[in-house]
Amino acid sequence: MLFKDLKLNKPILRAVAEAGYDNPTLVQEKTIPLVLERQDVITSAQTGTGKTAAFALPILQLLYDQQDAPKKGKTIKALVISPTRELAIQIAKNFKTYASHTNLTSAVIYGGTSIEPQIDILKKGIDILIATPGRLLDLHKQVELNLDYVEMFVLDEADLMLDMGFIDDVRKIERLCPEDKQTLLFSATMPYKVEQLASSILKTPERIEVTPTSSAAKDVSQVLYYVPKRNKIELCLHLLRNTVKGSILIFRRTKFGVDKLHQTLISNGYDAERLHGDRSQIERQNALADFKRGKVNILIATDVAARGIDIIELDSVINFDLPNVPETYVHRIGRTGRAGNFGHSYSLCSADEKSYVQTIQKLINVQIPVENDHPYPLDPKAKPIVHKKKGSKYKKGRKSEASKKKKKRWY
Ligand code: AMP
Repeated sequence: MLFKDLKLNKPILRAVAEAGYDNPTLVQEKTIPLVLERQDVITSAQTGTGKTAAFALPILQLLYDQQDAPKKGKTIKALVISPTRELAIQIAKNFKTYASHTNLTSAVIYGGTSIEPQIDILKKGIDILIATPGRLLDLHKQVELNLDYVEMFVLDEADLMLDMGFIDDVRKIERLCPEDKQTLLFSATMPYKVEQLASSILKTPERIEVTPTSSAAKDVSQVLYYVPKRNKIELCLHLLRNTVKGSILIFRRTKFGVDKLHQTLISNGYDAERLHGDRSQIERQNALADFKRGKVNILIATDVAARGIDIIELDSVINFDLPNVPETYVHRIGRTGRAGNFGHSYSLCSADEKSYVQTIQKLINVQIPVENDHPYPLDPKAKPIVHKKKGSKYKKGRKSEASKKKKKRWY
């Protein structure tokens, strides 16, 4: 199929050709016609499938076609909500590229940076707004941010948005927009809470599933190393010295873990950068830019910080900690082996993570090959270490109300 078969008009086809896209991806083939028909859509697709263009191109087309209609002035007609700053910036960049031969305008707003310039941009008026939820609501409180003319509302990476605790914000934002808008929801996974949100805000949506999250990327080799938890850093250094080459993304579960590994790699002479939610916007942008242009070849990140970030030429992924959600494993290793390249993934598994391997293997229906030939083997009989809190007055399974309310941000 060609882009012109999707009935996109000239300025958009020109921008797509200039971006170097020959054919639409599967998610684009399926989503674009439905959006052009003003359908609500739920698309299950992860980053790397071309999902941004799948909503950006038809939105631009619909707005472009309306330009001769009586003007409402420069009002926000399309609103895209994204969970992280990096993703919001990336989406905004895509909109600018695809709109380069139209006079449609877009802007991106996100937290962790000065609010004043964003207020100025909004005052000038724009057609398309890309925003993270918290900053959008802040701006709505502070200035006349008029969402009364929103015709298209996009929720990107909905599962991540809910994981990050944005459910109430998303509902609030949705209510600030007109009821008869078109809503598009994109999510890498479709857990129950995403389905629930979808059923409450979308109207008879069409469903599109592009990448079953259970199928691990075919162009990625997988290797598993069983290792005692205390030796993971040594094994990681051993692999970096001897086995893992090129540009490497290392996943850790917590921010603390990311910082600790980063310090170790730097003190061992590696060029590494790190991404997590406690770093400032500028630090995160610089870390990513240094990794993308090859100034450093190792990036250590939490799942949340790395999600949605588009890095095409990635050679290897190391799962320093195995994820307890098996779909996350599929997403992580799917970050490599893109654009026709072959990728490699290496997973370090300690005794307490063995059950994760079982659920991952069940999901992907593949036995991950195990490499036993390394200096830090795990005793096969090793039992997970259970840390008991001394003198805890709470019984297992009983949390105080305060601790339940205070959901710790560990990503
Ligand atoms: P996304 O899934 O939206 O993050 O897109 C992943 C990458 O694919 C981005 O670098 C896009 O520029 C690129 N891309 C999107 N659509 C196409 C296409 N039809 N052909 C080639 N590359 C594309």
